[in-house]
Amino acid sequence: MSKLQSIKGMKDILPADVASWQHSEAVMRRVLEAYGYREIRLPLIEKTDLFARSIGMQTDIVGKEMYTFTDRDGESITLRPEGTAGCVRAGIQHGLFHNQQQRLYYLGPMFRHERPQRGRHRQFHQIGAEAVGWEGPDIDAEMILLVSRIWRELRVGEINLEINSLGDNETRQQYRQKLVNYLLRYESQLDEDSQKRLNTNPLRVLDSKDERTRKIIAEAPNILDSLDSYSRTHFEALQEYLSAAGIQYRVNSRLVRGLDYYWRTVFEWSSSRLGAQGTVCAGGRYDGLVEELGGKPTPAIGFALGFERLVELLSLQTNEMGVDVYLVMLGSIAKRTGIVIGEELRDAGLNVINHCGESGIKSQMKRADKSNAQVAILVGEDELKSGTLVVKPLRSGREQISVAKDRLLEAVRDVIDCIAVENNKPSKGIEFNG
Ligand code: ATP
Ligand code: MG
Repeated sequence: MSKLQSIKGMKDILPADVASWQHSEAVMRRVLEAYGYREIRLPLIEKTDLFARSIGMQTDIVGKEMYTFTDRDGESITLRPEGTAGCVRAGIQHGLFHNQQQRLYYLGPMFRHERPQRGRHRQFHQIGAEAVGWEGPDIDAEMILLVSRIWRELRVGEINLEINSLGDNETRQQYRQKLVNYLLRYESQLDEDSQKRLNTNPLRVLDSKDERTRKIIAEAPNILDSLDSYSRTHFEALQEYLSAAGIQYRVNSRLVRGLDYYWRTVFEWSSSRLGAQGTVCAGGRYDGLVEELGGKPTPAIGFALGFERLVELLSLQTNEMGVDVYLVMLGSIAKRTGIVIGEELRDAGLNVINHCGESGIKSQMKRADKSNAQVAILVGEDELKSGTLVVKPLRSGREQISVAKDRLLEAVRDVIDCIAVENNKPSKGIEFNG
């Protein structure tokens, strides 16, 4: 019989990876709550019409990526490809936006029938936030500060922020026409995708990765030259807030987003370490969407951050948050003492993995290295006789040290701090010299 496999593009998240998911989720929830965001839990499926009306008929998502079915009642339903539409639908339905302002967040799986590759899956996960009811650039800046804090707290390392403004609806319409007029002059030189988009969703041509198309785009009209005066002032004020808060950013006038509902501010964070799918978090202002979906005109802004890409980015960093200590124990007496030491270290807040089972020192050290722990502690019978233990840094070139048992915690903390300072240096692997 052939073995059953998961559906293409739908990944299992195995126990070895779950810790990183849980850790990033916990940090992101804490940061969101520190800014006053509250969680909303939404259905995974919605009426198809919701996405068609919000994301836009001509977008890649609605045009070719949605998982759409007819249910048993003959109704067209769709597995959510993103969270904003459902969140806004729920807010309107339950009167959350009625004379109120809301900071909301959600997380969970999203579904898009895309070509699976690194950083791109058919079921993927997002954490998203929406601030509904504020129109000024202060909330835009606050949202960017919030995401920047997430990067800091998760220690993701270098990540680049780009911002742009798409102006109001009128700006966009006018710019669209200018862009089409310009691109038509080069139509036959554009890549195939861009030729199609020229007719359906010309702003997306600016996203093309094709080299020849990019050269043409480089000379295209600049959307920032067409901004309406309100949007221009809004965008300038946002930049002043960011500069005052010490946030590094780049204005990229070619940055557009793949969804139709964005107005004015748009932003993206990306990393060059993730290959072609480098965007980890993206968002923007969508002041027209609440009204479009049947609510009163209400300004809003939001972002969505992709878990898979974030977790990959974290896995590229040194493991600062995962396992702290791997306990290597040699012999049965050492094991009895070692188990107690493990408990004491955990009481002090460290994450500790005990080596279980009988093995020699070499194979225990190999396991220690594989565990990604920062340090190994060696408990051997000789050491116990002299009341000392060996602390061996695993992620740094530092020498191992011998410490008295009652100084163990302090010594381990010191070593972990030093490794964090050295930061990002690759592991030297393990040469056991004892
Ligand atoms: P991309 O340009 O990478 O296709 P997008 O503009 O379609 O991204 P959004 O809809 O804004 O992305 O989603 C926000 C974030 O969700 C992305 O920055 C990314 O981290 C993540 N994401 C989007 N699509 C996928 C996918 N198919 N697989 C994994 N993560 C995804
Ligand atoms: Mg996409």
